[in-house]
Amino acid sequence: MRFFGEIKNNKAILGDGDLHHLFNVMRRKVGDQIDVVYAGDTYKCEITSVKPTSIDVIEVYQDDVELPTNLILAFALLKGGHDELVYMKGTELGVNAFAPFLSRRTIIELPKEKDKEKKLERAEKIVKGASEQSRRTVVPEVFPISTYKNILKIEADHKFFAYENESHTAIGMKEALKDLKKGETTLVVIGPEGGFSPEEVELAKDAGFTFISLGKRILRAETASIFAASVHSVLAEEIE
Ligand code: SAM
Repeated sequence: MRFFGEIKNNKAILGDGDLHHLFNVMRRKVGDQIDVVYAGDTYKCEITSVKPTSIDVIEVYQDDVELPTNLILAFALLKGGHDELVYMKGTELGVNAFAPFLSRRTIIELPKEKDKEKKLERAEKIVKGASEQSRRTVVPEVFPISTYKNILKIEADHKFFAYENESHTAIGMKEALKDLKKGETTLVVIGPEGGFSPEEVELAKDAGFTFISLGKRILRAETASIFAASVHSVLAEEIE
């Protein structure tokens, strides 16, 4: 089992939710071992006391599981909890940051300020859980819900706009990322269920985005995000 926590004086410190999960849900006992990730390092630890909790570090080790390149996945908020699927699967596939945005054809009602915060907290919980499950050493960042225009300003070495209406003519991700280098950041923008409006397409062109195809079939918005993250991870893993 893996948790993101803190290490102090050779002891692991976990949050209340993680402690509940560890002892009440997973029923771990004295003598059981867990991994705790802190500041990018992984610590093998042993539970030495349940109440009061004491979890001792046995050894620290480097866990080389992160991709050598970064992916920022910008996607229009989706209805029916489909954005939660994007957070979960994207995290498993190595996404470094999620940038949810509101677009012209976003179907869900615009969340109020208070709901935006709740949505962000929920997203952060999902990416933390998915990071632990997939044994990552970094928890992806979730940016606050943004306007479409601000998404276009995000800095990256490669800026891609997935546009279904040019999917027969635009280059694919493999071609677009053929020169991807270690340490580089790629931004991919994925539209909502209803696609991008003509004005949004023009703005992306003006902002210098490369238009890419995700194949000849039209993917559902959440599939498009998961597909883009998958292709990025395959290409990144191939970098020497
Ligand atoms: N409204 C569109 C339609 O019915 O033709 C479909 C939009 S699609 C469900 C949602 C988003 O996924 C698109 O805005 C685009 O970013 C991405 N997408 C889906 N399939 C794609 C493809 N084959 N090539 C590029 N982008 C794609």
